[in-house]
Amino acid sequence: MPKKIFITSNPTDESKQVSVRLKSKLLDEGFGVLEEITSEVDLIVAIGGDGAFINAVHEFKYPKAPIVGINTGHLGFLQDIRPDDVDKLIADYKAGEFYLMPISIVKALIHMGDETVKIYALNELVVRNTIPRMIHLDFKINRSFIESFSGDGLLISTPTGSTAYNYSAGGAIVDPSLEILQITPLSPSNTNAYRSLTSSIVTAPDSIIEIYPQKQDRTSVQIVRDGFDIPFEQVCKITITSSKDKIQVLRLHNYDFWSKVTNRFL
Ligand code: NAP
Repeated sequence: MPKKIFITSNPTDESKQVSVRLKSKLLDEGFGVLEEITSEVDLIVAIGGDGAFINAVHEFKYPKAPIVGINTGHLGFLQDIRPDDVDKLIADYKAGEFYLMPISIVKALIHMGDETVKIYALNELVVRNTIPRMIHLDFKINRSFIESFSGDGLLISTPTGSTAYNYSAGGAIVDPSLEILQITPLSPSNTNAYRSLTSSIVTAPDSIIEIYPQKQDRTSVQIVRDGFDIPFEQVCKITITSSKDKIQVLRLHNYDFWSKVTNRFL
């Protein structure tokens, strides 16, 4: 049975051209190319910047099938393959010369009175104010009270997201093979009026992070998942854990996270 590939791409001209070229080469090599995603899919190819990878993961609801990214964006942290390396990707995939890297996602339960909503993120979740005012968030790790945070908000990052918003906010870069979560404060207020930690906290894989917006802020809590804002009306608690489900990313053997870090940041 030929392997079935689904290609998704962002709308730029370059991405569309790569998509057409990839489809034709895959068909020439005897692969099946699906017009829409089904449970039969063997591999998802996302073409674009890191946003294209993130969109594919959300659109296809945290797929079980492996996913690989062809980078036509700027950074390409998640999008590992260069458009010039499409032939190599096909040859290595055909020859089984690849491995699947499981990457962690973060799960949040948003508690609103009697209602609870579950959401997932690949990079990060941000808890902040919908209005341009300080937010006050009490938070616990494994039921131990840590602090009443005051500032712009709290960012909970996966290892994958550590090189994204988390890094801009002063958080640490984390090896993607780890399963930790990182809590990074956004503009923490640390004065005689308010005391907030100014550095990130790294938690163990099975830790439970609980965030309780203080009463006056509960109607103006904004939750941002991988750059997309999800509106909620009255948030009284957010429970955050590292999800047991993982995304499987296809990597070729020349992939090296740390050379990516030095190439992109240093
Ligand atoms: P975007 O606003 O179009 O792009 C944000 C930038 O973040 C792009 O350069 C993107 O890379 C890069 N990026 C995304 N995920 C990354 C990762 N895991 N490691 C390193 N860089 C990454 O939005 P988008 O492309 O949909 O990405 C959403 C992400 O933007 C959010 O999850 C958040 O992490 C990030 N963000 C960052 C800031 C900040 O740094 N101050 C503020 C808001 C959001 P490409 O160029 O390859 O697409």
